[in-house]
Amino acid sequence: MEKKLRIAIQSKGRLSEKSLGIIEQCGINFGNDPRVLKEEAYNFPLEFLFVRDDDIPGYVKSGIADIGIVGRNEFDEKQIALDVIRDLGFAKCRLSVAVPNSFNYTGLKDLDGLRIATSYPNILDGVLKKNGVSASYVNVSGSVEVTPAIGVADAICDLVSTGTTLKMNGLKEVEEIYQSSAIMVMNPDIESERKNILDKLLLRIDSVIRAKNYKYVMFNLPEEHIKEAAAIVGGMKSPTVTKLFESDWVSVQTVVAEDKFWSVFDQLIELGAEGILVTRIEKMTE
Ligand code: ATP
Ligand code: ZN
Repeated sequence: MEKKLRIAIQSKGRLSEKSLGIIEQCGINFGNDPRVLKEEAYNFPLEFLFVRDDDIPGYVKSGIADIGIVGRNEFDEKQIALDVIRDLGFAKCRLSVAVPNSFNYTGLKDLDGLRIATSYPNILDGVLKKNGVSASYVNVSGSVEVTPAIGVADAICDLVSTGTTLKMNGLKEVEEIYQSSAIMVMNPDIESERKNILDKLLLRIDSVIRAKNYKYVMFNLPEEHIKEAAAIVGGMKSPTVTKLFESDWVSVQTVVAEDKFWSVFDQLIELGAEGILVTRIEKMTE
């Protein structure tokens, strides 16, 4: 029987939708019944295992799955030896220390000797030790932000996105200690047949990720400015230039990195570019 690559994905939570989304954008189709534990792709040798995110590093380590998509925070906290093969860039969040509003916080050293409630004692301990701070940890798996009010802890260390939950509990964020995003992890002892399938999958994933970071840009320009424009936009090799019919204008086509787009845009306008057209790229190889 043909071997399949097995991927562990969070069944329900902040990682689920985007994890499946990236697989879908790779042209891989599957049924997505949230009640099932296992699912097979229709058009690619891939088998999904839908589990809690906390279990993903362990399942990949034990070989129940070959790869998994998990928050870097969860992976670093578990301290299970796996290969991190991609940073997928979504599910960005930060791990921060927060203290009661009345706490006059000046720096990490203020935490010395205190009780800190967290679900991430290993990550926190690593950061505090590096700063010569020793604290005791109250390991809680949820509702971390209520612990100071009920007298269980003096401070907390938790994942923050907007900070609203902290405010509601009379806490202030005082120190960001760690940043996380979704990563793809691999069992270091993955079988070679499955590794071959993974390489095919990664080729697709990379083209999806790369495409997200670029825009396809077209514009018209007086021909005399083409050298300057080429220097501004770059492109994969160099821009494609087409002469417009019966005029001294050209049409230019190129790709531009998302993070450079607005500066490129301003410079093109200054050069006299007109009719700038920008579109999303769906897939893009190197
Ligand atoms: P499970 O039931 O699978 O154990 P969970 O409650 O532990 O789920 P989620 O809240 O779904 O986990 O979060 C999963 C991961 O998403 C986190 O480990 C973190 O990497 C990331 N994450 C957490 N909070 C946010 C946020 N506010 N914005 C974006 N990503 C986040
Ligand atoms: Zn979890």
